[in-house]
Amino acid sequence: MRGALGGPRVLLRRLREVMAEPVSAQEKLDRIVVLIANNMVAEVCSVYVLRADGNLELYATEGLKPEAVHRTVIGSNEGLVGLIASSAEPLALSDAQSHEAFSYKPETGEEIYHSFLGVPILRAGQTLGVLVVQNRAYRVYTEEEIEALQTTTMVIAEMVASGDLQTLAPPGQDIAIRRPMAQRGVALSEGIGLGYVVLHEPRVVVQKLIADDVSVELKRIDDAIAALRARIDSLLARGDVSHSGEHRDVLETVRMFAHDQGWLRRIREAIMTGLTAEGAVERVQSDTRARILRQTDPYLRERLHDLDELANRLLHELSGAAFAAPREELPDNAILVARTMGPAALLDYDRSKLRGLVLEEGGKTSHIAIVARALGIPAVGEIEGVVSLVEPGDAIIVDGLAGEVQIRPQPDVEAAYAEKARLRARAQAKYKRLRKTPSVTKDGVEVTLNMNAGLLVDIPHLAESGASGIGLFRTELQFMVADKLPSASEQQALYEEVLRGAGGAPVTFRTLDIGGDKVLPYMEQMEEENPALGWRAIRIALDRPALLRSQVRALLKAAAGASLRMMFPMVATVDEFLRARALVERERSYLRRHGYREPEKVELGVMVEVPSLLFQLDEICAKADFISVGSNDLMQFLFAADRENRRVSGRFDTLSPGSLRALRHIVRTAGRHGCPATVCGEMSGRPLDAMALIGLGFRALSMPPAAVGPVKQMLLGLEAAPLAGALEEMLADASAATLRPKLEEWAAARSVPLE
Ligand code: PEP
Ligand code: MG
Repeated sequence: MRGALGGPRVLLRRLREVMAEPVSAQEKLDRIVVLIANNMVAEVCSVYVLRADGNLELYATEGLKPEAVHRTVIGSNEGLVGLIASSAEPLALSDAQSHEAFSYKPETGEEIYHSFLGVPILRAGQTLGVLVVQNRAYRVYTEEEIEALQTTTMVIAEMVASGDLQTLAPPGQDIAIRRPMAQRGVALSEGIGLGYVVLHEPRVVVQKLIADDVSVELKRIDDAIAALRARIDSLLARGDVSHSGEHRDVLETVRMFAHDQGWLRRIREAIMTGLTAEGAVERVQSDTRARILRQTDPYLRERLHDLDELANRLLHELSGAAFAAPREELPDNAILVARTMGPAALLDYDRSKLRGLVLEEGGKTSHIAIVARALGIPAVGEIEGVVSLVEPGDAIIVDGLAGEVQIRPQPDVEAAYAEKARLRARAQAKYKRLRKTPSVTKDGVEVTLNMNAGLLVDIPHLAESGASGIGLFRTELQFMVADKLPSASEQQALYEEVLRGAGGAPVTFRTLDIGGDKVLPYMEQMEEENPALGWRAIRIALDRPALLRSQVRALLKAAAGASLRMMFPMVATVDEFLRARALVERERSYLRRHGYREPEKVELGVMVEVPSLLFQLDEICAKADFISVGSNDLMQFLFAADRENRRVSGRFDTLSPGSLRALRHIVRTAGRHGCPATVCGEMSGRPLDAMALIGLGFRALSMPPAAVGPVKQMLLGLEAAPLAGALEEMLADASAATLRPKLEEWAAARSVPLE
């Protein structure tokens, strides 16, 4: 290579020797710049490190004035160095001073140097700093020299990421990689968790960047790629890919990239500059990330995930490390960080050590979110790129209420969250003490507080919360977290365990509510313009009765000799209920004929969640054994506001006169028919909303387990009769957008505890 002494491989070997010397970080850096300058036959070599404040600080130099070190600070968009940092691209100029971005720093004495080559110091695609060489002569740097300089930045990136350089930073001037960060995403599961990062799919820590023998490394990468291709092929052939959230299409894309010659050639070229196979994979991936991260095209960004996946798998292949995390080694106070994760994988972790979960993907209705909620693990999703923003062991806080994550928090932020978590724990302890207290208002009105559930892990909450029973068991959750359609016997086994776990407390099973936002990965998906108004729940059940029939049979068998409560979702006409009821009757007579023991009692209910039912309530209440208001759906349909669309879901209030009048109509009609009515949507779990429901006349509510304590505390301080009168007055006028402020005022005046 022209101009370089001994080439990049010699340089890398020297750098390795320096890295191993027992000297301070500053001395190492000082020696590194001398080595690079000599090797590249450059008069100047400087390292600029990106600080948390976004500026680039000169950390070491050979050739510029030594007094400029730690004194020269360049803005992130200033000069050539700023340009390299922000573009994450190398820049080679034979006449730097004529470049429009050139900015002169007199204290450095750089005016005598004309040619300039700068490359970004990257790690996982994030810029950590800039490495520059300069020459007096108007020199043209070759492609090989640019490549060689990029390779050497790997070593400096390691030093920055290890935290060694942090010791050189003045107080308050953290370097960028260690900087505290607050990231906002979507709240998936309530609660606050403080702990330390554990990567669900741990990155392989590349121990050795610099090759001893290039030909050995070339062979290693070829072998690893062959092994990886074979592994992916066999995973795909087995068809068993959903356990840890590995979706078939991701693997398919990874397989495609594993055959991409451009990508493989770049890795081989990086090895030729003296890196180990692992070092080369990391370098190429980091460059690719840097480039893609600066694109806004969502398609490209999605491909980045696939490339990350490929690089990660290749590193595992090279290091021989198992791909899945060794679950038993979970430290205390672990916060899992992952791009994506399957529900079964989460259930594999030791729950007692998990304090939180942070995902790059995962919406509120994703399966992992459902499981996190059932396990009571605070979780936040849609934090873009979080896996590459953290290092294992970093302090991290998950705020599953606000949907925020604090990475490497400052002490004051950490203290504030610790206090918030303590207050929550104290409140929880207080609610726990209320567990056995009967849920009766101050004026003696008894209100049954049930809880909602859907998985076996929910069942212990029954005892912990003090709920009287399970008012809504969402049977589709078993289907949603499974890899394949649960068999009839698997369904029966679950229902038996739920009934056993409930120990005689009533359980209301809701039949499969799939479709809409509840998608089963293994069932054929149909594109629907309007899935919430589409083919879902009872509609699927009646059109394809085999599914409902096998579920009903499983429920009847599971409840042999006991009582069974079953209700149907999304019923829109009386006729739909009658058809569902007839199906149950047919299954009962089938079981009778075949000598099975029947449940002692079977009660069939209807969920009131489609507004059309409000005008058929007399018939429904006369025919059903009970009704249960699914207020989540009822409100979305009443107000024509998608419950999953954040722009409109908060627009209409559950406590608006319109919704309260609808609810009043339901409870009154049911009362006239002596048909028990309950509410099982989320509003039941919010103390003020629950108060309004009691005021309207509801005497049974079903809510998330964590809400039972706060709602019970509210009703213990409530007088139901005066509330009913006050609410009646408030409802006489429907002009207000919501009665929330009035109800709050009413509660405050009577010291009804709402928190
Ligand atoms: C509801 O719609 O209020 C309800 C309880 O059902 P889900 O939230 O499961 O749709
Ligand atoms: Mg519903």
